[in-house]
Amino acid sequence: MKTLALLSEAELLKNTSHLVQEERRITLELIEHLREIQMRRLHESLGYSSLHAFVTGHLGLSEGAAQRRISALYLSKELPEVTQKIQSGALSLSSVSSLQTFFKNQKKLGMKPSVEEKREVIAQVEGLSRKETEKTLYAIQPEALPQAGSGQKVSLPESTLAKLQKLQSYWSHKMPEASHEEILDRLIADALSVEEKKRFGTTGQETKAIPPVVDSHSAAEYNIPTRPAIPAEMRRQVWRKAQGRCEFTSSQGRRCNSQRTLEIDHIIPWSHNPEHDLKNLRLLCRAHNLRRFSLASARSHPGSNARSSAHVGPPARAHEASAC
Ligand SMILES: [Zn+2]
Repeated sequence: MKTLALLSEAELLKNTSHLVQEERRITLELIEHLREIQMRRLHESLGYSSLHAFVTGHLGLSEGAAQRRISALYLSKELPEVTQKIQSGALSLSSVSSLQTFFKNQKKLGMKPSVEEKREVIAQVEGLSRKETEKTLYAIQPEALPQAGSGQKVSLPESTLAKLQKLQSYWSHKMPEASHEEILDRLIADALSVEEKKRFGTTGQETKAIPPVVDSHSAAEYNIPTRPAIPAEMRRQVWRKAQGRCEFTSSQGRRCNSQRTLEIDHIIPWSHNPEHDLKNLRLLCRAHNLRRFSLASARSHPGSNARSSAHVGPPARAHEASAC
């Protein structure tokens, strides 16, 4: 390659445009690799509870870079043309990330936009910057992208942020994927409810105690009454023993340590050892509890195709319950 200082302006511009194209191509190739890693659940066997944790922890990408690439992975899974739009520059990764957040929030709001409706939204933001994209999405449905509105930004001290993150992990069963804003909103709503009850005698929505850890087999949501629940004191002991973190450790010795969606797992399955014994209990995040089930399932059905048995989407409830 010629020294840059010797390039003509036309050559410099041409090379730069070429590099931008290359950068997009490599980004898309990286996303395809991440998709394959997710399909094989390789990140889980390396001790990561999520693809995001793997991309930041193992690959060293920043939180934002990881989130943008994983958003592109999910959106292009549903709408494959997104890949081509990223390659051509019609959609930036930031815009794709905003779109994915927008569609996810629409789902949380109980809406089910069709693929065609999503395509129409995407068409409206093609060629726009991230800021313009968010403005456009906010105009379509403000509540699905509240941060794009005129809300005030609040900066929190590190110690408060750490407490917020801890609460986010405790509530990860109750409010999966809840943002810091959503956690704060819930806390304020609960505090208001208590205050209003005190002042005006109204009931409002009172906070229910949310246990930091779920007995995966007996959780009411699974509704499988095949064995008695693990006593509360024993659950606390399991929690203390694991220091409130996932105990899965990879063959390379990396412990997961996730504090989110924690469940109690019977090391020797309940079907083989039908009693609650502290030595047989451990704390696993949902991803690793599910992984254990998938492996057990693959062992009992050795002829099944590993790829088809790898579950990428949200877990089926019965599978979670059967994991221990
Ligand atoms: Zn884990």
